[in-house]
Amino acid sequence: MSSEFDLIARYFTRPAPAGLLGVGDDCALFPVPAGMHIATSTDLLIEGRHFFPDVDPRALGHKSLAVNLSDLAAMGARPVGCVLGLALPQANEPWLAAFAQGFHALADMHGCPLIGGDTTRSPHDLAISVTIFGAVAADRALRRDAAQVGDEIWVSGTLGAADVAYRLLDGHLPADATLLAATRRALEWPEPRVALGQGLLGVAHAAIDISDGLLQDLGHILSASRVGAQLHYDAMPVAPALHGMPPAALTQAVLGGGDVYELCFTAAADQHDQVLSAAARAGAAVTRVGHITQTPGVVVLGADGQPLSALPRGFDHFPVS
Ligand code: ADP
Ligand code: MG
Repeated sequence: MSSEFDLIARYFTRPAPAGLLGVGDDCALFPVPAGMHIATSTDLLIEGRHFFPDVDPRALGHKSLAVNLSDLAAMGARPVGCVLGLALPQANEPWLAAFAQGFHALADMHGCPLIGGDTTRSPHDLAISVTIFGAVAADRALRRDAAQVGDEIWVSGTLGAADVAYRLLDGHLPADATLLAATRRALEWPEPRVALGQGLLGVAHAAIDISDGLLQDLGHILSASRVGAQLHYDAMPVAPALHGMPPAALTQAVLGGGDVYELCFTAAADQHDQVLSAAARAGAAVTRVGHITQTPGVVVLGADGQPLSALPRGFDHFPVS
């Protein structure tokens, strides 16, 4: 049997990098780089809502941090550190070891050490909350309200795979082991675009990470910036595994599917080449999918040049029916 403190010591205490005070005191301490602002964001993951109870704990550790790193990426911020809140139904040590391994591996990859947290017993389900801290020059951060008419709209990576994997696992799509094998990694092991976000500072205007679906998340940029968008469905970077799916399900996955953790960003048309070279330096593929317009709302043009009707909606925890 292990006490709360044994568990913290074993799985969540790592030597903090020089200059930081990590796990073990009442608060963690980290320096704020001169001239920078702290970018901070938090995400809550609940069993049965954000992940399946039987998900691989290493993948869950990875994803718990990945979704927060993705928020930093969407501001162009450099990771500094993170804290982890855990409500555990039981102290299952093999589970904790695997979870911690997935978490720390991604933290190490991005120089984002775990510097604190809280560990409690949960009467029912597992809940995970990660809060992240990053640094960014405030006047350069990639804010949602910075899109300008005429900007090109870009998307990194590919779209749709995570949504399809989710629908296969929860039974909304008919079982298809080949399709699941080809899409599952996108759902469980998202790779946050941290280097791309920082590479876009001074190049892009507005950015957001696609957690709730392209149309919904782009919609946040549009309303914050008081502009509209015209997109080209044919230009969308559809995940290769999805080719051959029925068109309606494909459109839903590509335009409405969440859990993507790619960046959607806007940049002036004269920055086109700079966007491409920033993406190449960051090792990310980027695709131009449309442009910002004066007219509010989103129009998605099909191959025939006609607007698609019945656009999918993104994810909403409290939908108004
Ligand atoms: P306090 O009672 O002062 O809040 P705790 O006993 O909750 O302190 O935690 C002891 C130390 O362990 C603190 O430094 C806290 O940040 C850290 N800690 C607790 N749980 C976690 C966790 N899940 N991940 C990382 N650090 C943790
Ligand atoms: Mg505490």
